[in-house]
Amino acid sequence: MKIKFDFPMATFIEEWIYLVIFEALLYSYVGMILRDSKLKLRLLEFANHDALTKTENYAAYEAKINDLFDSSAKNKLDLSMMMFDIDHFKKVNDTYGHLAGDKVLKHVADVVQTVINANDTKVKLYRTGGEEFNVIFPGYDLDSTKSIVKEIFAALNHLDVNINGQDISISISVGVSTISQADMKPNDFYTRVDGNLYYSKRNGRMRITAI
Ligand code: GH3
Ligand code: MG
Ligand code: MG
Repeated sequence: MKIKFDFPMATFIEEWIYLVIFEALLYSYVGMILRDSKLKLRLLEFANHDALTKTENYAAYEAKINDLFDSSAKNKLDLSMMMFDIDHFKKVNDTYGHLAGDKVLKHVADVVQTVINANDTKVKLYRTGGEEFNVIFPGYDLDSTKSIVKEIFAALNHLDVNINGQDISISISVGVSTISQADMKPNDFYTRVDGNLYYSKRNGRMRITAI
């Protein structure tokens, strides 16, 4: 540059200093933006996921079901949902402690996710309450949910979670339903699934009610 434009040495050094300062500022600005976007992604992840089981949480479930309910109703697509609750889970905590209960919850989420991954990754699992989970089946009518629901049911009811050398076994109660034209809002659909789950609870637990 000096040779081409024949700058005095002082100007040449001055220009170099400005260039170095500019590059340093640019570098720190880009770094700041990258850190900021990583932080935003982490916050989003934190807001949508349950810290214990790493599954998506109630907020994510609510956004998804609202979205799917509208698009399924508009385009006349099938949509089904399974909801399950671990039976007598309070007894697990009371007998083995809350840390053991936490490990059981993590294990339950892992097992269900493994079953889903082996079948259809469009099916989504959410931890919607303490020991309650919802599974959304986009594009499924009631009948086509059967094999995955049964697989999840069998996997969890035969599960022995080994914690500190002790085998903890659990069972679940399940409600399943599908959207109907009479459903005006997502909660009408949810209430039917929830009602089916409570039917299972009131009628002996460890059973599936699908209507
Ligand atoms: P039911 O068969 O009627 O569902 O009985 P239940 O004991 O499972 O139901 P209940 O609603 O009486 O108790 C739920 C228990 O789940 C109580 C609560 O402490 C426990 N629980 C909820 N969230 C967590 C959690 O994150 N970790 C642990 N360890 N326990 C939890
Ligand atoms: Mg329970
Ligand atoms: Mg419950």
